[in-house]
Amino acid sequence: MPYFCAMQLMDGKLASAAIKQKVAQLVQTRAAKGLKAPHLAAILVGTDGASETYVASKVKTCEELGFQSTLLRLDASTDEATLLQHIQQLNDNPDVDGILVQLPLPKHISEAKVIETIHPSKDVDGFHPVSVGRLVQGLESFIPATPYGIMLMLEHFQIPTTGKHAVVIGRSNIVGRPMSILLSSQLPYGNCTVTVCHSKTANLKELTLQADIIVAALGRPGFLTGDMVKEGAVVIDVGITRVPDASKKKGFAIKGDVDFESVAPKSSWITPVPGGVGLMTIGALMMNTLAAAERRS
Ligand code: NAD
Repeated sequence: MPYFCAMQLMDGKLASAAIKQKVAQLVQTRAAKGLKAPHLAAILVGTDGASETYVASKVKTCEELGFQSTLLRLDASTDEATLLQHIQQLNDNPDVDGILVQLPLPKHISEAKVIETIHPSKDVDGFHPVSVGRLVQGLESFIPATPYGIMLMLEHFQIPTTGKHAVVIGRSNIVGRPMSILLSSQLPYGNCTVTVCHSKTANLKELTLQADIIVAALGRPGFLTGDMVKEGAVVIDVGITRVPDASKKKGFAIKGDVDFESVAPKSSWITPVPGGVGLMTIGALMMNTLAAAERRS
């Protein structure tokens, strides 16, 4: 007999609102104790449209939650040494709790050098090798915001993960790799058996068809289709790609890596794009910045 499941939406608006409310309350508690507001400093190099949007929403969320924020805008032609000096100044500034440099950076700047220059105690993006090493070892660490946001989402909707088979598509340092570590870690919403797929994976559909949980983070719109998913799977769509769309005011639409129309009817839970993981990412960044401030005080 076929198994029919009722699909439920993992609504990023609901889950991120709960996270933001919790963070705002904790900021108020700090204020009542005479502690300063958490302070996030962001650096934006150049004028890439998507990066501008991301940074603007991070700064706006800081305001909403009672954080202090500083945005340093640098010209796209800024050289690497100058950028590193700015980061060093923020490292040395006792008033700043968290530093983020919006990626991607212009080609003439080494992302690795930039990431390594941010002091690990202020590395709220969780990309520094020290943060990654601590995460791998199960030690307290800043967790990269997107996978952290997904873990918070699983927790919010109380989706059981222990003993499940999770397939993560993508192995980037920002999403896929840390996601696979978190899902396999001994955490309340971890304990999965994890398969990591990437551009050289030979039998991807065979693997996704075995998955109880799929995290699609490859940046190819509509890649995961209904025939690649088993009935009742939990499907998390990380993809954000701007696809030209003349019917939209901005001239583009945001597309995820999941073909929602064919996958949703087969899944037990699914994230929408937009309105899913992206909103959680900002909430998780705020959690990291608050944690940085707490550790410093
Ligand atoms: P990336 O380009 O660094 O990595 C993509 C990964 O996908 C690589 O590891 C590659 O091996 C794998 N891949 C590519 N083609 C594949 C294929 N055909 N089959 C299997 N694997 C394949 O990208 P990223 O930074 O990890 O981001 C992935 C997507 O997530 C992008 O759309 C990005 O915009 C989005 N993203 C969203 C958020 C958010 O907040 N929602 C945050 C970060 C990234």
